[in-house]
Amino acid sequence: MRRVADRLLIAGVGLIGGSLAMTLRARGLVGEVVGYGRSVENLRVARRRGIIDRFERDPERAARTADVVVVAVPVQAIAPVIGALVPALPTRAIITDAGSVKTPIVAAAERILGATAPRFCGSHPIAGTEHSGARAATPDLLGGRVCILTPGTRTATTTRRRVQALWEAAGMRVEEMPASAHDRVFALVSHLPHVAAYALVNAVADADRQGTRRALAYAAGGFKDWTRIAASSPEMWRDICLANRDELLAAVDAFGASIERLRLAIALGDGAAIHAELTRAQATRQRIGAVPPVRARRLRAQRGARRSRGR
Ligand code: NAD
Repeated sequence: MRRVADRLLIAGVGLIGGSLAMTLRARGLVGEVVGYGRSVENLRVARRRGIIDRFERDPERAARTADVVVVAVPVQAIAPVIGALVPALPTRAIITDAGSVKTPIVAAAERILGATAPRFCGSHPIAGTEHSGARAATPDLLGGRVCILTPGTRTATTTRRRVQALWEAAGMRVEEMPASAHDRVFALVSHLPHVAAYALVNAVADADRQGTRRALAYAAGGFKDWTRIAASSPEMWRDICLANRDELLAAVDAFGASIERLRLAIALGDGAAIHAELTRAQATRQRIGAVPPVRARRLRAQRGARRSRGR
């Protein structure tokens, strides 16, 4: 595999940016790695851990030598950071981001970059944990996972190819979709579960205050499995809620309707309705749990093709 960057600039050397840099360095696919960020303490950790060679606090100094820029800061900070870096960026440098919401980022990046918008392509690596910062970065996070690219209408083909090569060099499989489709899908399978997990923890903690015995003291597998993600960074998830507001509200409403159906069945003591709801969910969960999503899609397509041949 060929080097994907001679001078990689990671803006936001946290879990995602730090893990990308570590993986590329471990594979020898990158030259110098420069870190740019808000917290000096975090950047020092990154340098001590060998994630970056050096760091810069001044955006112009950070951008001056870069040929690839990855902006991996919380979603609402991505556009301002691109805006701060871009004046000093060499003309052949390309830019991508790692944000979990794409439509507003792609639109803002194109607006900020103006005539040089072809050098930007949005990305979302589908990998993560509830931990943040350079301390949490690991070279094992990204390999074998999917990265979604959301090129804008003005993204140059060469930019898309270079961004694809970047994530593939980190061991990721790359898929492409329009930013709007991305935001609908991830509102459902990522943003909703996080919001629901935060809300569940608060609901139990609030109810706990009224009881005589602390329920949370008995929290075991089920509660802890579901709410692991509620230990994630509130700053990051606040930004996602704000940036993907409409899709997230639709997802929360769908969840509310689903909970309400179960609530009604429980209130009515309707065992058949409860059983039907749970059986339907169990079957879906078993289907998605059995095989990774990309393989599941391929299998479904093969089954569909076999069925239509049999017709
Ligand atoms: P993180 O908190 O670990 O890292 C973010 C870094 O950005 C921190 O080092 C912080 O100091 C820096 N930062 C924050 N605001 C800044 C600013 N205004 N200017 C410069 N630096 C700033 O977060 P992360 O989990 O690595 O997430 C980074 C991005 O990747 C986010 O946009 C997030 O939506 C996305 N993402 C996260 C996950 C996940 O599960 N954690 C998965 C995929 C994508």
